[in-house]
Amino acid sequence: MRIEFLGGTETVTGSKYLLEHDGRRLLVDCGLFQGLKQLRLRNWDPLPIEGSKIDAVLLTHAHLDHSGFVPRLVQLGFEGPVYCTEATRELCELLLPDSGRLQEEEAEFANRHGFSKHKPALPLYTEQDARSALKRFEVISFDQEHSPWPGWSWRLRRAGHILGAASVHVAWTGGSILFSGDLGRSDDLVMRPPEAPESADYVVVESTYGDRRHRDVDTLVALAEVINRTAARGGIVVIPSFAVGRAQTVLHCIQRLKKARRIPDMPVYLNSPMAADVTRIYRRHLDEHRLSAEECAAMSKEVTIVNTVDDSKRLNNLSFPSIIVSASGMATGGRVLHHLKAYAPDARNTILFAGFQAAGTRGAALLAGAESIKIHGAYVPVRAEVANLDTLSAHADREQLLAWLGRLRAPRRVFVTHGEPVAADALRLAIEERHAWSTTVPVYRESRAL
Ligand SMILES: [Zn+2]
Repeated sequence: MRIEFLGGTETVTGSKYLLEHDGRRLLVDCGLFQGLKQLRLRNWDPLPIEGSKIDAVLLTHAHLDHSGFVPRLVQLGFEGPVYCTEATRELCELLLPDSGRLQEEEAEFANRHGFSKHKPALPLYTEQDARSALKRFEVISFDQEHSPWPGWSWRLRRAGHILGAASVHVAWTGGSILFSGDLGRSDDLVMRPPEAPESADYVVVESTYGDRRHRDVDTLVALAEVINRTAARGGIVVIPSFAVGRAQTVLHCIQRLKKARRIPDMPVYLNSPMAADVTRIYRRHLDEHRLSAEECAAMSKEVTIVNTVDDSKRLNNLSFPSIIVSASGMATGGRVLHHLKAYAPDARNTILFAGFQAAGTRGAALLAGAESIKIHGAYVPVRAEVANLDTLSAHADREQLLAWLGRLRAPRRVFVTHGEPVAADALRLAIEERHAWSTTVPVYRESRAL
């Protein structure tokens, strides 16, 4: 067996691990690079082999940094199945066409305003490309062994994190490798904790929070403080949020706070028609999270769902304290950019981030205290309060990652991926100290015999 790391190295984005054994090739995850420009440009890099030579793709979960390259791979000649869980497919049916649409809009906007260096600016793929790619998706169940080729088999276990998220155990004649996927927290307010992993000869583990411990604060208390502080100033709380996962947790928390009268009864706008569809998918997969059908329904009760672009624009003229939840979560694109343009310049408002902000994103710049940010080619001054509630994050922290690894029999080697360089290296050190296991932080395009 040979593994090649085609992404998810030195960054939290672009996860792609190519396995090659006995004439077959499996790509575990097929994610988009996001954030820093030198990373985004990798989305245009030629693959080490033709797309048609990859036999299958196996997705750990639906987030675009794990699934968003599938339409491009299909353009590059891939003709095989894309295996994933049922919830992952349902979420990809929303996320991938939206990703294509966003890329078309960005290319069109860049061409119209002439601020792209590429002429003409091209989308990586279109909404139509994404819809065609979805035809290749095939659902597989958790816990069942799947062996489509002689000498190969794999099995998925629940990883918490978001609906449908899995850790993947791949076995072949003579060895095995376990991919953590993105691991959820053991104390998530919505998702169940990750299941016990299956031991393997090699382990690929994520390290988003490999150098951090989630603060021991009560999420609801912290969220109530931010909202009350902003409301007292007469301001608007803008929450950039992943449409999948974070938006639902945020709505659930706001609903609980309102019910307990711990925040004022202020209007809440969910400016993401897709997030509303995702909430319906939560209702269909009650076994994967902690909420009852009633709590799922309550998430979108008392929330104004904004569907049209005109209604979305109207949200930029609110005069009463309100909360706006809108994608994307790292402010890299999407409708939230228009709200940042409208509300970042006013000191009464708050921009509240609800999860990890990758290097090079507007989210990371704002949290680092940027006095202005560039949106659609123009600089927007930032006078609003900028806050981060990382306890709302869907990722395990360093202790939870080590605890998950601690349930495994000693592997021959651990590969630490899906982290900024400092976080990945901190987790490597911690694994070596705690377990004395051989541990490597692979680099982009590194290839290894297993
Ligand atoms: Zn994820």
